[in-house]
Amino acid sequence: MMGMMMHRPLRIIDILAHAAEITPQEGIVSVTPEGLHRYTYPDALARAAQLAHALVAQGIVQGDRIATLAWNSHRHFELYFAISGMGAVCHTINPRLSDEQLIYILNHADDRILFLEPEFAPRIASLADQIPAEMTCILLSDTPDQTDTETDITVYETLLSGQPTQYDWPDLPEDTAAALCYTSGTTGVPKGALFSQRSTVLHAMMVPLSQTSSFRAGRRAMPIVPLFHANSWGLPYTAPLMGMTLVMPGAALDGASLWSLMEAEQVYSAWGVPTVWAGLLAEIERRGRPPAGFTDMVVGGAAMPHSLSVAYENHGISVSRCWGMTEMSPVGGRGTPSPDIATLDLDARLAIQTNAGQRCFGVDFKLIGDGGRIVPHDGHSTGELHVRGNTVISGYYNNPSATAAALDAEGWFATGDIASVDPQGRLAIHDRTKDLVKSGGEWISSIDLEDIATAHPGIDSCAVIAVPHPKWDERPVLVAIAATDTPPDLATIQAHMAPHLAKWQLPDDVIYVDTLPLTATGKVSKLALRQQFTDYLLPDLR
Ligand code: ADP
Repeated sequence: MMGMMMHRPLRIIDILAHAAEITPQEGIVSVTPEGLHRYTYPDALARAAQLAHALVAQGIVQGDRIATLAWNSHRHFELYFAISGMGAVCHTINPRLSDEQLIYILNHADDRILFLEPEFAPRIASLADQIPAEMTCILLSDTPDQTDTETDITVYETLLSGQPTQYDWPDLPEDTAAALCYTSGTTGVPKGALFSQRSTVLHAMMVPLSQTSSFRAGRRAMPIVPLFHANSWGLPYTAPLMGMTLVMPGAALDGASLWSLMEAEQVYSAWGVPTVWAGLLAEIERRGRPPAGFTDMVVGGAAMPHSLSVAYENHGISVSRCWGMTEMSPVGGRGTPSPDIATLDLDARLAIQTNAGQRCFGVDFKLIGDGGRIVPHDGHSTGELHVRGNTVISGYYNNPSATAAALDAEGWFATGDIASVDPQGRLAIHDRTKDLVKSGGEWISSIDLEDIATAHPGIDSCAVIAVPHPKWDERPVLVAIAATDTPPDLATIQAHMAPHLAKWQLPDDVIYVDTLPLTATGKVSKLALRQQFTDYLLPDLR
């Protein structure tokens, strides 16, 4: 028998309309090239309406892709809501991608308009003959382009001015495409995840159900994770839905800039990748305290070193290690400790809490081992994690071959992560399939080795990479930034790691470097390191 209930389509614009009605005093604090900007959600809704009218005037119709090349700001927030609200697709692009990837993505998505920060105008002008010819560029600014790369380029504030502040938002079918984000392409050409109105609204409601520590109406949340990185983990949707003000940090994401902004704006919860937190910790130690009011930290995108989590917890900040992927909208594992362990002392709690959080409501996990066998959720057996749910992609945008490779016969999405899951849904990520070290037929988890190595006071940060070896195929090598002037030698590091590992799992060498290469999303690039050190353990053939 069918239920007898109304069916109203889930729409993204209703999130902003709700925030404007219920918490009109909350809104957005935004760092822009012109200075600090503040307004409320009713202001944001009125400006989104103006932007939607302007898009119609530009000839945009439902289904068109509109690209952004922008930092976290109130304007980028308006683009999120106005574009999806009128039925077009907001395509966020990572400015740190290579020219080659940028050209590929703009053409693959066939974007109609590109909204860009003034600082990117010269770069786009230099690529003009390789990007879609019909694409209009609009500067996210209130002043005409100072660099004079294009004489008649439109300016965002001019575009909006004079437009009506109300828009009759269409009743779109809830499966309508709303946003598009390409993965960073560390494994080949970038692949597009095309989110719907429905998946986005469900994700916005799902995250605070699980990640409870981060959301308090009237408090302030700061997405340090960019709006172009997997929807900024959904925070631009979840924060207004939960009645929180958003603090948008703009382009400066170094520790000192973040500390000052967080202190001045009383940020309660901030979200970012581990490299950002390492930078902020240095500033906290320099100043002797964290920014006032900073209580809740969400880290994801890569494994957070255990020692870094402990350092923040010791400053009184609750650290939530979450897990997700662009292809999952992106959150799949939440870090708020479950009530049964929340009151344990720090060591006991961290021993139980994993590096990737507990399964969120709405996402199912399945572990697949060798030969397709199902791996039990016993907390130690490992397999490739497969996921299923309303916020997981059912395929890549216009890419049948990548789609076929990513989905199994039952329609589960293969994440490429090697993981274990305990009976309470706690997820531990041991590696990405492509980063595992395969030594003599055995697997060594690079994440586990990194966690142990960074617990040594002489190691600031590090990455363990697989290096080709004539006898064992691959061996682990530790590439590290030293914390002291006289860094620990290999024997010291091995002695430090030995109690936690089998002998054959210990790194063959330690290489000290000044900096570690980062990917476009700010994670340590193991691909770049593997390429750099590919001959390191091979006999000299010259
Ligand atoms: P990309 O890095 O390819 O641009 P994402 O930002 O979507 O794409 O990254 C997703 C990947 O990040 C996951 O598959 C996983 O390997 C890694 N990751 C995310 N969260 C964690 C975590 N808490 N611990 C370890 N790895 C993580």
